[in-house]
Amino acid sequence: MARLVLKFGGTSVADIDRIERAADKVAKEYNAGHELAVVVSAMSGVTNQLVAYCSSVSTMYDAREYDTVVSSGEQITAGLMAIALQKRGIPARSWMGWQIPIICDDIHGKSRIIEIPTEEIETRFKGDEVLVLAGFQGITSKNRIATLGRGGSDTSAVALAAALKAERCDIYTDVNGIYTTDPRIVPDARRIKQISYEEMLELASLGAKVLQNRSVEMAMKNNVSLQVLSSFEDSIGSELPGTLVTKEENIMEKPVVSGIAFSQNEAKISIIDIPDSPGIAAKIFEPISKANIIIDMIVQDISEDGKVTSITFVVPQDDAAKAGKVLGDLDILKDADIRIKDDVAKISVVGIGMRTHAGVAEKMFKTLAEKNINIDVIAASEIKISVLISQEYTELAVRALHKAYHLEEPEA
Ligand code: ASP
Ligand code: MG
Repeated sequence: MARLVLKFGGTSVADIDRIERAADKVAKEYNAGHELAVVVSAMSGVTNQLVAYCSSVSTMYDAREYDTVVSSGEQITAGLMAIALQKRGIPARSWMGWQIPIICDDIHGKSRIIEIPTEEIETRFKGDEVLVLAGFQGITSKNRIATLGRGGSDTSAVALAAALKAERCDIYTDVNGIYTTDPRIVPDARRIKQISYEEMLELASLGAKVLQNRSVEMAMKNNVSLQVLSSFEDSIGSELPGTLVTKEENIMEKPVVSGIAFSQNEAKISIIDIPDSPGIAAKIFEPISKANIIIDMIVQDISEDGKVTSITFVVPQDDAAKAGKVLGDLDILKDADIRIKDDVAKISVVGIGMRTHAGVAEKMFKTLAEKNINIDVIAASEIKISVLISQEYTELAVRALHKAYHLEEPEA
């Protein structure tokens, strides 16, 4: 017998038929003797509709009332799931955030969970009850409903799993796991069986639609194993059909490279031939960080005559114009040549095995060279090597790298 949290996302509870199918899965786990908490999202599309209702009344809506409106989608699915489970002879009860209570801060619209008292839940578990929690919502110290930010039901599920010290948190969704890269680009991309939290965070662009980064961070902090699996396939979580995101120690075979992520939402900013003096980097990057712009890769050229240098770095594409303006306003850069290029792509090779294996970077550079792809910027961390290339070569690069690291081959 295990204690499990099962989370069903919007597409998994999109209509009555799907809710019934989700309830069948819960029933199978229940009949296998597990203690279960089920967390549900709103039916897909419902939250968007609720958000649109708010904006159509006023673009300046009060965030507390926004939360009252948008939290309501999950109330419907929690009640329906409880009814569907009861129909299957399972003692189930729905719970809203305020009833548990899921105590959260009062930053409405993107609230964070502070605490989940578990006494009542433990009592219910002893009585063999299945708990059905409305995801995405909690209650503030001022007794108001708050929501956790879009996609926040994952966070509800992980926080509940942490509070209940659950053995695993199964995230049922519309994909059957995390892949070695985007299967739309590499058709023989393979589903990963197990991956560490750190790798998952680095591969965020592959899993982004599946798992909120915040929920992965929370799982890592609380040591909650997460499984991403499909609610459209017949298997249930306890058969471990999906991708398990867990701590490194739990992973038996540590592949040198686990996956290849790519992002085309990047922009490269170059500042050419500026006077090279101590403090120049600080003077450039301080206002950038004050403007809340995240910098990703940085290269500073050596200046041959010691007088001038060039600095290149990468920012999210959406922030490129803002960064350009911040730099243009700087006194020290008033005559500088600042170039912004946004038809770039960042390709990252990720794997915990890199810590102990040499040659990963070399293989990446060689593979790209063989395809005649020029590397603009390189950045490396313990478990990741990223390069910036021209956007037009994204697919070519991802395919070549996927092959070079033999990622299509089944895991040992
Ligand atoms: N229903 C909410 C949303 O769409 C929360 C969730 O599904 O995770 O953002
Ligand atoms: Mg989601």
